[in-house]
Order: sequence, then structure tokens, then C-alpha cells
Amino acid sequence: MNDTFEERILQEFFEGEGAVSTVNNATIGLMLAIAQSMRPNGRYALMPSFTFSATPLSAIWCGLEPYFIDIQEDEWSMNVDILEDTLKKLGDQVAVVVPYATFGTCIDLTYYNELQKRGIPVVVDAAASFGARDKYGHFGKGFLGSIVYSFHATKGFGIGEGGLVYSGDQEIISNVRQAGNFGYKGSKESTLKGLNSKLSEYMAAIGLATLDIFEQKIETRNQIKQWYLEQMNKWNLFDKGWRVQNCTGQLVTQLFSILSPQDEKADVIIDRLDKQWIETRCYFSPPCHRQKQFSTSHQSTMTMTESISNRIISLPFWEEIDIAHVNRVIKELAKPSHRGE
Ligand SMILES: *Cc1c(COP(=O)(O)O)cnc(C)c1O
Repeated sequence: MNDTFEERILQEFFEGEGAVSTVNNATIGLMLAIAQSMRPNGRYALMPSFTFSATPLSAIWCGLEPYFIDIQEDEWSMNVDILEDTLKKLGDQVAVVVPYATFGTCIDLTYYNELQKRGIPVVVDAAASFGARDKYGHFGKGFLGSIVYSFHATKGFGIGEGGLVYSGDQEIISNVRQAGNFGYKGSKESTLKGLNSKLSEYMAAIGLATLDIFEQKIETRNQIKQWYLEQMNKWNLFDKGWRVQNCTGQLVTQLFSILSPQDEKADVIIDRLDKQWIETRCYFSPPCHRQKQFSTSHQSTMTMTESISNRIISLPFWEEIDIAHVNRVIKELAKPSHRGE
């Protein structure tokens, strides 16, 4: 099952270019990809703070220290100007760069491909990007570093637990595969620091079945996003200062996160929605640099990360949600806030 699943993914999504290895989850996929590509004498993994904690945790498991970089205003992905300055400052101390394709947007990989060619390894956390397409085809196709996708239930292509590591460089995948199979080379002799990252046959079967209905799932998810956008327009929320992510490419909407107006903090609004039985989430608040586990990590200035994480609200989003629920959520948001209440 797993062999068939991998082969279908490689052919149907990457047109046979490069190589893939499924993994039992994306966190393990990130660990393996970082371990197999990091510069051995490097110390830092440069990454955004505005990501899921799995990104810095996977670097820590590889013996590295996360070094957080601020994000940019529109796409909420790592600010490459700040990244470039930090790379100059840290030089050989950089072990790997780990950008995050925020909520599945197709970040521009041209710069990161250049970094990889300059000898600075890049592992892209593309947890929510499986199925996303940009002008080059499937997001990540041909990329010379590694790209890690998650198949967790909360992602657009959800099979329960699972993930995928892709690279345009077959050697990286061959090493990831070996590391994920106890470091075995040929015979049963372990020759590198391995672990067991294999996707079960059972999950691969669910993966194959999910591939068959993926187009429908994408359509449903994008429809829900459209409903939200239409309602936001209808209630003039953009004029009132509400913002959405500026995405690139044809995405598989993972969830729908919006920013409250500059002068309204998200937690006040979240409480208000909660009183109306509307349950929200806030990906990612607190951002990583505000979490205890990473509180001693180095960081750049965090102006944009702070601003966005204070304002972010992830609205109710599941494939069976209907238009009436979407309307109700936005109508509630459009009510004037009662400050001091
Ligand atoms: C979901 C997610 C992960 C972890 O994926 P798992 O498959 O659950 O291990 C890592 N990074 C980001 C940004 C995610 O959203």
C-alpha cells in the first residue's frame, strides 16, 4: 500500500520529478530532513516564530537551537530581508534554514533554492501545503532542499496521522528513507542515527482512498473560504480594518484565519464569540518565542509577529460547515464591540 501511495504521489503531484518518502507524521519528517541536511558544525536553525511548535521542536531534537526571525505583513511568512541579514551575522553558525509556508500559501521558493545552492541547507515546513499549486506546478516541485507536508487530520489532506518528505534531490530522500528505517543500509546494519518513521500500511490505504476524493475536498474547502470572504465584504469588515492573509497560488484551504482591526485585540473578540457559542482557535498565538520551551532562544525583532499574533482569530472551519453557520459567525463579528463591558 505504502509503495503504491508514494508512487501515486510522485507521479500525480510531482510529475515524477525528484523523490518522496512518506513518514508517520510531519514532526518526524522535519526531524529527519533537518538531521540529514544540516551542516554538522552549525548551531542554529533559522525559522519564523509564527509557526507551530513542531517546527522548533524538531530542530531541538536534532541538537540545534531555534533562532526566530520575524514575518512579513501580508503573507505572514518569514521576512527574507531580516533572514538575509541574520545569515550574514551568523555565518557558519547557521546549520539550516526552516521557512514555513504559512497555512498552505505558496511562498516564493526561488530565494530558498538559491540558499540551498549557496550551501545553506533549507528544509521547508509545508505542513498545510499538500495539493497547493503555483505557477511551477505542485508547490515545491523540483526544489533542491527538502519539503515536509503533514497529513494530520487538521490539514487539507488529512488521513489521521502521516506526512511526506519531498526533494528534487533524490539523494536527500534516500538518506531520509534510510534514517527513517533504523539507519539500515542494505543489510540490517545501522549506519546512521535512525529511528522508525514508517507510515503504516493502514494509513497508506486511507491515504490512497483520500487521493481519490481530494479534488472534492479541495473544492469544498475553497467554497467555505469564499463564503467567509463574501460575508466579510457584505458586512464591510475590510473597511473596518479586518484583514486576511495575502496568499499566493491555488491553495487547499486549511483553515480560515483573520486579523482583527489594529486597535482591537483578538482575545476580547474571541471571548465575545465564545459567549455566543462560537468556538474559535488562534493559530499561532502565543507565537513560539513567547512559549516557555523556547523562551531562551535567540530572535530578531518581532514587531510583525507580535502584531499579527495579537490580532489573529481562526474561525470555525470544517468540511461539513454550512453557509448559515458562516453567515452567523461573520454577523457576530460585524457587531460593534462593547469596550469596557
Ligand atoms: C501540523 C503542523 C506540523 C506537524 O505536523 P504533524 O503531522 O502533526 O506532526 C508542523 N508544522 C506546522 C506548521 C503544522 O501546522
